[in-house]
Amino acid sequence: MSREYKIAVLPGDGVGPEVVEQAIKVLEVVAEQEQVTFNYSYARLGGSAIDEDGTPLPEATLEVAKNADAVLLGAVGGPKWDQNPSHLRPETGLLGIRKALGLYANLRPAVMVECMASASSLKEEVVAGVDMMVVRELTGGIYFGEKKRFQDENGRDAAIDTLLYNEDEVERIARKAFEIARKRNNKLVSVDKANVLESSRLWRSVMERVAKEYPDVELSHMLVDSCAMQLVRAPKQFDVIVTENMFGDILSDEAAMLTGSIGMLASASLSDGHLGLYEPVHGSAPDIAGKGVANPIATILSAALMLRYSLNLDAAAGRIENAVESVLNQGIRTGDIAEDKAAAVGTVEMTQHIINALKK
Ligand code: NAD
Repeated sequence: MSREYKIAVLPGDGVGPEVVEQAIKVLEVVAEQEQVTFNYSYARLGGSAIDEDGTPLPEATLEVAKNADAVLLGAVGGPKWDQNPSHLRPETGLLGIRKALGLYANLRPAVMVECMASASSLKEEVVAGVDMMVVRELTGGIYFGEKKRFQDENGRDAAIDTLLYNEDEVERIARKAFEIARKRNNKLVSVDKANVLESSRLWRSVMERVAKEYPDVELSHMLVDSCAMQLVRAPKQFDVIVTENMFGDILSDEAAMLTGSIGMLASASLSDGHLGLYEPVHGSAPDIAGKGVANPIATILSAALMLRYSLNLDAAAGRIENAVESVLNQGIRTGDIAEDKAAAVGTVEMTQHIINALKK
């Protein structure tokens, strides 16, 4: 009997359903090649759920997600729901599901496909060969600490946000990052601000402690300001970066932009165990929804991350990534990444090229 995996599919809004459909086509090719079965359970999230169920995160969706081996998500949101109160906004569903699934590690790969290096805003020789992963702590730190507005002793408006981490929170993200480094090139850079912040000094000491269990992984530390500079000066030095929530928010976008278009950026959010949520970095792109021109690569690469990090199908993940690269090397482009817009292919055609490459 072939191995079976349960995948919760949340297409969402706008281009979400279009790009998710393409990723499923690619997964079906993988299923055949690997002799495995993917059982898909579809559920609503975001705007479509608000319209149909009266809430952006229906109970039924959460059940489907919790019972799955992995969750594949498109994107949520759109102008239709922009004026809604916060409990009826699509993003509330997204934040809700991340929280409910305990997704504390966010993975954002930044890979420069050789033939696209000339399109980068940095010099080609600086970015050619970049292949890194930013691991961001997602549920702690200053975004979740106590915050308040108050009047100070001189009657001025003032505000406070609290940056709190405990050693358990740091330890679990450290472990995740070391495991990921093991799946890659065994090089981990932990980014903090230990020269100023006490929470960073705790972070650094926990990283050092966990490092003893991973002697095969080379750990180094870098201050966040230095890291921001190194990312644009010499990005090839990085393999895996691990950092706290706010630093990761900023650095993952910086790293992603080294390599180009939002239509190509994948992400994964992981919990303890194998359950993870995989989604493109881009939003629901209402301006191009329904036109058949959305770039499916970000979602297809997110599906590849799912194979690697939730289903342990590393070889299949690598084959998808190679297929995407080979299609790009052939000069095939969707509108968002094409220099010659007239020659651009649509969503379905791009997927078909990737499938053809995958079958070779
Ligand atoms: P967006 O990422 O949807 O779009 C930004 C620009 O990039 C647009 O011009 C769009 O056409 C283009 N783009 C995005 N994905 C593309 C793709 N696959 N192929 C080609 N071009 C692509 O961001 P936005 O316009 O700021 O937001 C639109 C909606 O999406 C909003 O409602 C926002 O709240 C939501 N959003 C959702 C998520 C998510 O679901 N994770 C993330 C960001 C934004």
